[in-house]
Amino acid sequence: AIDPDLRTISTTCAYCGVGCGILATPDGRGGAAISGDPAHPANFGRLCSKGSALGETLGLTNRLLYPMIRCGKGIMERVAWSDALDHVAHRFQHIIARDGPGAVAFYLSGQLLTEDYYVANKLMKGFIGSANVDTNSRLCMASSVAGHRRAFGADTVPGCYEDLDEADLLVLVGSNAAWCHPVLYQRMLVNKQQRGARMIVIDPRRTDTVGDDDLFLGLKPGTDTALFSGLLIYLADNGALDRDYIERYTSGFDDAIARARNMAGSLSATALATGLSEQDVAAFFQMFASTERVVTMYSQGVNQSAQGTDKVNAIVNCHLATGRIGKPGASPFSLTGQPNAMGGREVGGLANQLAAHMGFTPPDIDRVRRFWKAPRIATHEGLKAVQMFEAIARGEIKALWVMGTNPAVSLPNADGVREALKKLELFVVSENVISNDTVDVGVHVLLPAQAWGEKSGTVTNSERCISRQRAFLSPPGEAKPDWWIMGEVARRLGFGAGFDFHSAADIFREHAALSAFENEGARDFDIGALQSLSDSDFDAMVPVQWPVRQGNEPQARFFAEGGFFANDFKARFVAPEIPALRTETTAARPLRLNTGRIRDQWHTMTRTGESPRLGQHLPEPFVEVHPDDAARHGLADGDFARVTTDYGQCTLRVIVSERQQRGMLFAPIHWSEANATGARVGSLVAPITDPFSGQPENKATPASITPY
Ligand code: SF4
Repeated sequence: AIDPDLRTISTTCAYCGVGCGILATPDGRGGAAISGDPAHPANFGRLCSKGSALGETLGLTNRLLYPMIRCGKGIMERVAWSDALDHVAHRFQHIIARDGPGAVAFYLSGQLLTEDYYVANKLMKGFIGSANVDTNSRLCMASSVAGHRRAFGADTVPGCYEDLDEADLLVLVGSNAAWCHPVLYQRMLVNKQQRGARMIVIDPRRTDTVGDDDLFLGLKPGTDTALFSGLLIYLADNGALDRDYIERYTSGFDDAIARARNMAGSLSATALATGLSEQDVAAFFQMFASTERVVTMYSQGVNQSAQGTDKVNAIVNCHLATGRIGKPGASPFSLTGQPNAMGGREVGGLANQLAAHMGFTPPDIDRVRRFWKAPRIATHEGLKAVQMFEAIARGEIKALWVMGTNPAVSLPNADGVREALKKLELFVVSENVISNDTVDVGVHVLLPAQAWGEKSGTVTNSERCISRQRAFLSPPGEAKPDWWIMGEVARRLGFGAGFDFHSAADIFREHAALSAFENEGARDFDIGALQSLSDSDFDAMVPVQWPVRQGNEPQARFFAEGGFFANDFKARFVAPEIPALRTETTAARPLRLNTGRIRDQWHTMTRTGESPRLGQHLPEPFVEVHPDDAARHGLADGDFARVTTDYGQCTLRVIVSERQQRGMLFAPIHWSEANATGARVGSLVAPITDPFSGQPENKATPASITPY
């Protein structure tokens, strides 16, 4: 228990992948004063609206306090922890024995701490023997992971936040950083104001990220690869290549440039393919070609696409071709959405990774098996999120354990997800809340997990910086850490020796040791120097950027002088496919629905919805419509409209806005039935995924709109 002695605790924000440091001073009554941590290298004391309102979200409204099981009469009843854990273990054991390990799955969250993720992954992949463990990070940055692995041989973010301070040109692709990564955006604004850096924003929607003096490229949806392929040709034709870098450190350039010439062989062809003016395309290309210090940041507009991995590689190609990678102020840079999407990647929280950035290759499988002393290690990739829920719908997966996420709202085809959940033989949810759209589908077992401010462990932000999340409140009721809950189930499944963890520090040390096990520089993720931290060292741990190799100097950046993680140590140019959306608009569905976030809400509003201040910004679910489309469909600003796709319907308030491209609608993802609006935008989204990353296309579902 936390002694409410009003000590100030340094911890990390609960929300986005910027990973801002927070100072929390408990008030002794279950609340806390929150401020930015001036010593944290992500934010140096700054916070955005969401982070600064964290203190307003610490109440016990809707809180799950005790384990509960659905009894014979269909009612959820409070039970003792031992009964709940026995029940979960017994039911999992029964289903695995009857149908095999492929019949069970875990669905995790970027809200989990690295230590929780580590235990979930070890239990499922090493001991149950299935790789059916995936995460809502699949919806967030899986395309960046796949793109990095194809280009670099590993899921490595080459740059760091200081690059945003030091760049002379900041290119944002599919990123509304002003709303979604506000503190990084503030750093970019300081760079613009103090150093004169220029900014280019590439996005179908004119968002608040676009300043008056920025170049805005409002391209047609899904055409990013044409734009960056055009850029690659421009760089080649205008003497802007770094021939030495290409020769020494890369392969595949000739194939990539040949494919690019087919796709976008001239400025006019690029303009035609992207819907941009030739003048704007030329201005972008000239600025990129003539600026040595350029950072290209990409986020959900790139990742959430059925061609997301190709988009990432088209961007990375331009940085490899100019040698602008891993140098101060020069790099491609993936902005991750969630607070611990990166930590999840590091332990193997994705169904297509094993652990510690190792994959399902025979040497990696053998290495992890020996390290874990795993009795039954998974030998091939598991089902990625969308496919996992489709397998549940087909009755192939019979037991699912959801931890800290709300797939009945957030996944594409969310109505289909809800129906699939009803078919489960065993449906377990670890949660902070007693009710949300997923729980309300008909969960069989509810397990109370500790929330932000109560739990303790580590998270990793977008620049590979590992920070502590620390407890500053006593957990209410019988809430437990996620890692403890899974460890107890593992023990009951007969795997006690592999899960003898007594603290987050125990798990972190093992995670660090695995990262260094038979590594010797062959893998990017190595924090071996942290494997011997004492408990008190772990308590006092300050933010540290990986790699943290034994005996090596800190390394802020990768690849300025090669050193890629492929067998030949070279980066690969990947020739992207010609851009083509996988769905067609029709007379019945003449528009395309783009979904995303708003400034002051987070995901399905479980926490941010508790703050009245945050609710004031955009207080109700809405759809943004271009004035011409509004007129065509008989809509005025402030009306209600029904948005329909082949998957579902939502009623939303109309905002008529020139920021919206003709033919496109935009609706935010946050609202649901649990927050009393019924506007579950996820139910409208087509479950179409990228073939490499499995990430769904959340940005271009064919839709219609009618007055309500
Ligand atoms: Fe939290 Fe992200 Fe805002 Fe920082 S920028 S305070 S991490 S929500």
